[in-house]
Amino acid sequence: MSTTPRRRDLLRGLAGMMAALCLDTGPAWGQPRRGGGPSGLPPVPQGGPKILDVHAHLLRTPQSDLRDAVRPALEAMDRLEIARTLLMPPPQPPGSRMPYDFDSLLPLIQPHADRLGFLGGGGTLNPMLHRNVPVTDSVRHDFTAAAERIVRAGAAGFGEITAHHVSYFPQHPYETVTADHPLLRLLADIAQRYDVPIDLHLDPIPQDMPTPPRLAERSSANPRVLAANIDGFERLLGHNRGARIVWAHAGRDTLGTWTVALTRRLLERHPNLFLSLSMHPPFGVVAENSLLDAAGQANPAWVDLLRDFPDRAVVGSDFFHQATGRDASTLPPPTAAVRRFINALPAELARKVAHGNAMQLYRQKIA
Ligand SMILES: [Zn+2]
Repeated sequence: MSTTPRRRDLLRGLAGMMAALCLDTGPAWGQPRRGGGPSGLPPVPQGGPKILDVHAHLLRTPQSDLRDAVRPALEAMDRLEIARTLLMPPPQPPGSRMPYDFDSLLPLIQPHADRLGFLGGGGTLNPMLHRNVPVTDSVRHDFTAAAERIVRAGAAGFGEITAHHVSYFPQHPYETVTADHPLLRLLADIAQRYDVPIDLHLDPIPQDMPTPPRLAERSSANPRVLAANIDGFERLLGHNRGARIVWAHAGRDTLGTWTVALTRRLLERHPNLFLSLSMHPPFGVVAENSLLDAAGQANPAWVDLLRDFPDRAVVGSDFFHQATGRDASTLPPPTAAVRRFINALPAELARKVAHGNAMQLYRQKIA
C-alpha cells in the first residue's frame, strides 16, 4: 500500500491520540501504560456468556493493510471469548483520500464467515450524508441505490453512520449534520424496509454548549460551540418506529453529556432505540458516566438501567483491530473491559447483553 504524506500525518495523529488515550485511562481499563504487549495485560476474567460484538473496525496503518488485522482480530476474540464480530468501515467524511467500505472487508471476512460479519455505509452513505448539498430526487436516488447495494451484499446493517462526531486530533474530521437530516430519515425508511438496524454515532448534546476545552485543544476542527442535537435525534427516532437505531458507544462519554438519566429518558420514549455498549476507551472519558469505574468495577447506575431495559443493549466494543508487531505502539490492544463488564451482570441479563439481543437485532447466529 502506498502512503501519502498526508495520510502518514493522519496516522501519526491517530497514534498520538491513542498513546494519550492509554495515559489518560491507565491500567484500570486493562491497558498497559505504555509500550506493553499482550504479556503486560492483566488476566482476562474467564467464563461468562459468549459475546457477539456488533461494532469493531480493522485499522490500516502505513505498514499494514486491512488484511493484516484479520488474524489479530480473531486472536483477540479468542482471548475475550467473543464468538462473533461485526466489522464496519468508520464514518468517513466526503473527500477522504482513501475511502473504504464493506467491499474492502468482504474478501477478508469470507474465509471466516463463521466468526466475522459486516455492516456497510461508513465509506459511502456517510460521505453522501455529510456532503451538505440539497437533497434532490437524484441525491435520494443515489443514496437509496448505495444503501440497497449494501444490504444485497449481505450486510447485517448500516454503519458506521454519524450525525455528530467530534474531532479527536488535528487531522481527524469534525462531522455534524442535523440529527433528523432528510437522508437519515430516508435511511431509516430503507432500514425498516430491509429489516436491518442502523449503527449511529451521535455525541449527545442536549443544549447548545461550548466545546469542552480538552477537545478544543485537541483539534481546531471542532467548533467553539456544539449545537444541540437530542431534539433532532428524537424526531429521527419518531420518524419511523419500524427502523431500529443502535446508538453506538453508550457508556463512553466524551462530552460530559451522555448520562444514564438521558439514556433512560430516550429508551422510555423510543421503543426503536437500542444501545451498543463501548468498551474501548477513547481519550478523556467522563468517568462518572462510564460503564466501569476507575477500579474496573461495573457502574451500578448503568447496571440498573440495563436491568430495567434488558432487551435494549448489545456489545459494540469499538475495538480497532490492527496488525501486531509492526505498529504495535499506535493503538492499545483490545481490552478485557468488555468481558469484565459482562461478567459483572446477573447471569440472564449478561446472556442477553452479551449475545442474545444482538442475535435478534442483527439476525446473527453464533457458533
Ligand atoms: Zn463511532
